[in-house]
Amino acid sequence: MTAPSPTYEDIMSECLALAGRAPGLASFAEIGRSAEGRAIPLLTLSDPAIPADEKNVVLVSGGTDGNEEVGRACALGLARALLEPQHRVHLQRQTVLIVPVTNPDGTAHDLPDVQGNGSGIPAPEVHKPGQPPATAEGRAMRELVEHWIPDAHFDFHGLAGGGMGDSAYLYPTVNEKWSIPVLYEVAREIEAAGERAGYPQEGRPRLWVNPRHNLPGWLARQHSAFCMVLEGTENYYPIEESVRAGLVRLLRLLEIGEETRFFQVHPNYPCDVVSGSRMGALMPYGATYGARRASRRAISQMILEGVPWFGRKPADRGWVAEIALPVEATVKTFPQGLAFQATLDRRATVTQVFWQDHVLEANLWKVWPTSAGLVVRAEVPEAPVHGENALRIRYEVPFKRHVEP
Ligand SMILES: [Zn+2]
Repeated sequence: MTAPSPTYEDIMSECLALAGRAPGLASFAEIGRSAEGRAIPLLTLSDPAIPADEKNVVLVSGGTDGNEEVGRACALGLARALLEPQHRVHLQRQTVLIVPVTNPDGTAHDLPDVQGNGSGIPAPEVHKPGQPPATAEGRAMRELVEHWIPDAHFDFHGLAGGGMGDSAYLYPTVNEKWSIPVLYEVAREIEAAGERAGYPQEGRPRLWVNPRHNLPGWLARQHSAFCMVLEGTENYYPIEESVRAGLVRLLRLLEIGEETRFFQVHPNYPCDVVSGSRMGALMPYGATYGARRASRRAISQMILEGVPWFGRKPADRGWVAEIALPVEATVKTFPQGLAFQATLDRRATVTQVFWQDHVLEANLWKVWPTSAGLVVRAEVPEAPVHGENALRIRYEVPFKRHVEP
C-alpha cells in the first residue's frame, strides 16, 4: 500500500519547483501555519503584464479533508496546467490563487473522518458568521480571502469508492432566487465537459440550502462569491485519471469566469447580481475589478445587516420603472456607490433616470438591446441611506397600455 498522493511533502516541494520554474507568472508564499506548525502554501498565478485590478480573482483549494487525496492532486494539477503555454491566456484575465493543502496536519496524518484540521473541528463549523475562524488554518484562509475578496472559490474534495463520476456541492448567496438556478446551470456545464472528455458523470449536485460554515459557504453568503465544493472521484479511476477528470471541470470553470453571461457586463464568474433579478438587479459599483470586488462585499454586508427586500416594483406606473432598496436602521455598512440594471419592454425609449429625488446625469446610465428586452444600467455614485431608496427609470413606448395598473 502506498501513501495517498500527493503527500504534504510532495505538495510543498512541487509548489516551490513551480514558482522557481515560472518566475513572474507563479509565486510562492506561506499564508500561515497549521495547529502543529506546518506551513500552508499559496501559489499565486497571474500574468504581471496585466494589472491585478483588471482581472477577476478565483481561489482554488484542496486538501481540506485530510484523507482525500484527489483534491490536493487536482489543485496542484491546475497550477501545473496553467503554466503550460496553451492555458496561460487565463493568467492574463484572472488571478488564480491556489492553496493545494488547506489542512496540512490532517493531510500529514492521513486522518479519515477528521475534517477541517487536525484538531477535529469539522470544516463546516470553522467559519461562523460574526465569529473569528475556529482554527489556525481557518484564520489563514480568512485573511487570504479578506485581502483578495475572490469572485469565485472552488474547494476540491474527493469521494472515495462506490461512485462513477464527479459531483458538486452548491452554496447559494443571499440572493437565492438568482444564485440557485445559476449554480445548477454551471454544475451541468462542468458535468457536460467531463462527459465530452470521456469521464461519465453519475454524481448529482447537492444544494446546501441552510448556510454552511465552511469557507465556500461563508464566502457565498458574506461576499456573494460564486462558490462550489467539487467532489472528484477517488478509487474508481487511478488517481491520474481522477486528476484529468478534475482538470477538465476546473478549466471549464475558468472559461466561464471569462464570459459575460448571467446578466453581467464585465467578464466574470456569475457573482455580480448581488440582489434582485433581470427585471431589477443590484450590482457591484466601480470601474475596476478591484473596486467592484470591494463593492460586492460591502453590498452583501449591507444586505445581511438589514435590507428586508430588494427589487423592481411589480407594475410600472405612468411609464416609470421603479427599483426599491429599503435600508433598515440596523445597517452599519454602506457601499460607496451602487449599480442597477433593469430590463424594459424592447420597444421602450428611456428619457430620464432618477436616483432618490434627483435626475441622474445622462453619462451615468446607458441602454442596450438584448433578446430579453432593453437593458438599462445606471451607475449611482452615491451611498444609499437609512430608509427608502429608489431608482426610477422614465420611458416612452409607441403603444397604449391595455390595462392601467
Ligand atoms: Zn471532503
